Amino acid sequence: MRIVMLGAPGCGKGTQTKLLTEKYDAAQLSTGDLLRAAVAAGTPAGLKAKAAMEAGALVSDEIVLELIRDRLTGVDAVKNFILDGFPRNQLQAEALEEMLSAVGQPLMGVVLVDVPASELARRIAGRRICRDCGAIYNVYFAPSKTEGVCDDCDGETYQRSDDNEATVASRLTTYAEQTEPLISFYDQRDLLHTVAGNAEMDTVFADVCAAVDSFS
Ligand code: AMP
Repeated sequence: MRIVMLGAPGCGKGTQTKLLTEKYDAAQLSTGDLLRAAVAAGTPAGLKAKAAMEAGALVSDEIVLELIRDRLTGVDAVKNFILDGFPRNQLQAEALEEMLSAVGQPLMGVVLVDVPASELARRIAGRRICRDCGAIYNVYFAPSKTEGVCDDCDGETYQRSDDNEATVASRLTTYAEQTEPLISFYDQRDLLHTVAGNAEMDTVFADVCAAVDSFS
């Protein structure tokens, strides 16, 4: 499996990607998660990425491509992967195309999780994540049983520091200006499959799986 999950911040692509990794035994490659780990570890890349992430802007292509290249083309390259949050602009999409064609493993398809813009800010504001296992909750429509505690592992849930109102507005603008054009980029390559994301999680997942099955 070699697919990209595309969609605005808050569309649910991280949640859907996690479900896909379990069903299809594939690896989730989330540049957001990789960058947050780099920031937490204080690596040189993390130090450079931090300000852009806090501002809701994109981290430089150089840093992001460095993070992803090894995982896709190195000696231990992942063969079954779902890219979540990458690519986010045309340069990254072209670089991905080149990397994968160099190893003879082109993308099989792209799933766009489509959610009306008016829904996104509320979804992001309600998002909570488990510090220990990464499970994702939403206080409005998918709360954990006990507030602040993960159902799966009893870990503490928290709100991402960039899930605040000011940063969210910038992230949505960044998406509209830089990432949304990838919809036509992938449509032109006949790789795009759009799924309505404003439904129950299980309904969305059934549609996502149907899209993924149609790729193979
Ligand atoms: P995410 O977890 O996907 O919402 O990403 C959180 C933040 O990490 C974004 O707002 C960006 O600042 C940064 N980021 C994640 N993926 C990328 C990417 N592919 N290119 C540039 N910046 C990214």
